[in-house]
Amino acid sequence: MEQLLRNFFLFLSKNKLFTKLARKYGLRFGAGRFVAGETMENTAKVIQELNDKGMDVTIDHLGEFVDKEEEARQRTEECIEAIEVISEQDLHSQLSLKLTSMGLDISEDLVMDNMRKILDAGKKHNVLVTIDMEDYERCGKTLEIFKKLRSEYELLGTVLQSYLYRTVEDIQELDQYNPNLRLVKGAYKESPKVAFPEKKDVDENFKKIIKMHLLNGNYTAVATHDDAMIEYTKELEKEYNISRDQFEFQMLYGIRTDRQAELVKEGYRMRIYVPYGDDWYGYFMRRLAERPANVAFVLKGVFGK
Ligand code: FAD
Repeated sequence: MEQLLRNFFLFLSKNKLFTKLARKYGLRFGAGRFVAGETMENTAKVIQELNDKGMDVTIDHLGEFVDKEEEARQRTEECIEAIEVISEQDLHSQLSLKLTSMGLDISEDLVMDNMRKILDAGKKHNVLVTIDMEDYERCGKTLEIFKKLRSEYELLGTVLQSYLYRTVEDIQELDQYNPNLRLVKGAYKESPKVAFPEKKDVDENFKKIIKMHLLNGNYTAVATHDDAMIEYTKELEKEYNISRDQFEFQMLYGIRTDRQAELVKEGYRMRIYVPYGDDWYGYFMRRLAERPANVAFVLKGVFGK
């Protein structure tokens, strides 16, 4: 049943009509629990509140699978504006984005042009930009673009997903760039031809890539809500005497907030991924797919308490 629901929400996450309707009618159905706001103005307040609790942030200007140049240019401007607000208000925040939002599916020239504009702003204001990882179809292209841009810009990171068979090789291949990597399990629906179908294998591979990347001496963001993975990272820290300056934990806004606070109390760097913007629908559906228990919460949002 849980697998069925998961597939259902992942299927819904790609529905273009619902995406448009969601944009038109604003944050609904309890999405506000996972999305900080529709404007940067509201979001800046949320970032400040998290900073006050000792947490760092990476904001994600929601948006994906853009197929019009004009829209990709507009999203780019919005990312630059976000970087400027972070700098003006002295917020402890980085920026995350998706290449399909910057025009990846339209042309490589467009996405490179947009990314360079954003990365110039990041360089000017000292804000690190992380390229989120999307579905398998776009993984190879995303990493090629990351490598090109990483040789031009210091303040750039990306994401690798432990559910993909290719990821162990990607960790090795990327080592020469000393990359700042966020490691995750992976949020898309992928074929068993390219991704581990069993959760236990995804978890084992997650541990493997955390260890590899840390022991390669690279900065590692362990992005998970899974206590087993958090404990494993702490064990590595002790066993290999890894400095707390070399890694951080990351969690999504609105998920396991108690655990987030505990990790801060224990002295770990904790970064919250804070999504904002009007294009919240696909992101929200993927969160429901991860944990169908959240559906009860959504139903309350739809039908009232
Ligand atoms: P799971 O095995 O899914 O969950 C472990 C435990 O965590 C669960 O048993 C439950 O107790 C708790 N939990 C998990 N999810 C929820 C929830 N929604 N609500 C309440 N409790 C929950 N994926 C990508 O493909 N590309 C990205 O760029 C990307 N960036 C991410 C950035 C951050 C900061 C984070 C935290 C995740 C990101 N993800 C990304 C999503 C990731 O791939 C997983 O889909 C997601 O984190 C769920 O996996 P998990 O590691 O938390 O473990």
